[in-house]
Amino acid sequence: MTSLPIPFIKRMQAQLGQEFEDFQASLDTIPPVSIRLNPNKNGQVPNQELYDGQIPWCSDAYYLKKRPTFILDPHLHGGSYYVQEASSMFLQTVLRQLQADGFTPTRALDLCAAPGGKSTLIASFLPATSLLVANEVIKTRAAILKENLIKWGQDNVVITNSDPSRFSTLSGAFDLILVDAPCSGEGMFRKDEKAIEEWSENNLRLCEERQKRILTDIWPALRPNGFLIYSTCTYNPLENDGILDWLMDKFNATPIAIQQDFPGITRMRHGVQFYPHKTRGEGLFMGIVQKNDGEDLRLKKEKQNTPRIKLSESTKQLLPDLSGYTTYCTGKTLGIIPTRHAGFIQLLDNTANIIYKGCEIGEEIKGMLKPSPALALYSKLRQDQTQQMPLDLPNALQYLRREDLHGEIPAGDWLLLTYQNTTLGWGKKVGDRLNNYYPKEWRIRNA
Ligand code: SAM
Repeated sequence: MTSLPIPFIKRMQAQLGQEFEDFQASLDTIPPVSIRLNPNKNGQVPNQELYDGQIPWCSDAYYLKKRPTFILDPHLHGGSYYVQEASSMFLQTVLRQLQADGFTPTRALDLCAAPGGKSTLIASFLPATSLLVANEVIKTRAAILKENLIKWGQDNVVITNSDPSRFSTLSGAFDLILVDAPCSGEGMFRKDEKAIEEWSENNLRLCEERQKRILTDIWPALRPNGFLIYSTCTYNPLENDGILDWLMDKFNATPIAIQQDFPGITRMRHGVQFYPHKTRGEGLFMGIVQKNDGEDLRLKKEKQNTPRIKLSESTKQLLPDLSGYTTYCTGKTLGIIPTRHAGFIQLLDNTANIIYKGCEIGEEIKGMLKPSPALALYSKLRQDQTQQMPLDLPNALQYLRREDLHGEIPAGDWLLLTYQNTTLGWGKKVGDRLNNYYPKEWRIRNA
């Protein structure tokens, strides 16, 4: 391992005292591997013989004995599970605490969301009536976030690619905001040597300034009594408790103690800290504050000036009961969003750069649907209304590499390709060949 920066060692020695040696030794051990299952899919996972215990602070989540070649598992591509670092999944415990106190968010914002680990967790946790806005400022990372959330298969999610400042005009829009802030990444030292190389005292200061800027930008968008969850993957107190001290000094907010008694998790002044020598996971800080003032968002009643888009009967058959949904059309692509959030999504569209919303269905050409990749991955797709082609592992991987398949292909129009009940995407029979409609940008490369 690259040697640790001396000022980092000195600070951690002061922070951890006698524990420092154990901490340092833990950085030379192999990082645990963990996955979280998708409760809305049929939950096919890597070989269960690989399971190495449940993650104590998150349901449906497991440690694995070793790291499989995830990229060669079609269930991963079908969104049946997400590979996520275990400490990060503590977010579920925090959400459960808020829920136990009677809090159900109408609208949640995950502000720094790519690649989507915490967004997929929040999406699984929220009731279907809530909306999650997952935002990522960096365009290339926003594309990965979009891919991961489409594969996760829910329709109550909107994805945006905007700077946090774009949300400041949405006063009181969200009752829950997660700021999983860009940080100095000390908690990733074991997993990522680059984090060590990039560490400098100057960078710590830049991170702190950026965290303050992000929080200042987003604070107005939190509604009164709403909760902001702040997290980082660093041990630097100035980016953790220090930022929450600053936030409470600057804004009218109250810290909320995180109630948990899992062994090894360290209680800090305002939040909790995970250390790799004390829990099976990487370094993480998480804290909650509640906003005491501000204004609520007042949504104007939506004007019905756009004509309702009608879907053909054959398209409707593929979808859940549409009474709670509104159909939209972006370019030629049709999609659905939950009607209860349509007014808000319209407002958001004026402010932020929406790159995906609800579930894209596809394009109707003379009443016939050319289905979108997202529809194949939609957890509410009525699979019994589709014609399916189950694939074995070599063929599933060939499909995911975006190569055409040959051999015995069922007759019919659009075929839904599946692997052990996990849906992957669409194909179309042409002669004795299956044309592959898997998105180019998602295909497996070099594996
Ligand atoms: N929440 C993600 C997850 O669980 O998969 C990880 C988020 S990562 C810790 C922080 C994210 O913040 C990165 O995706 C990064 O691109 C983004 N970011 C970087 N600079 C930012 C800024 N100035 N404002 C908002 N987000 C920023």
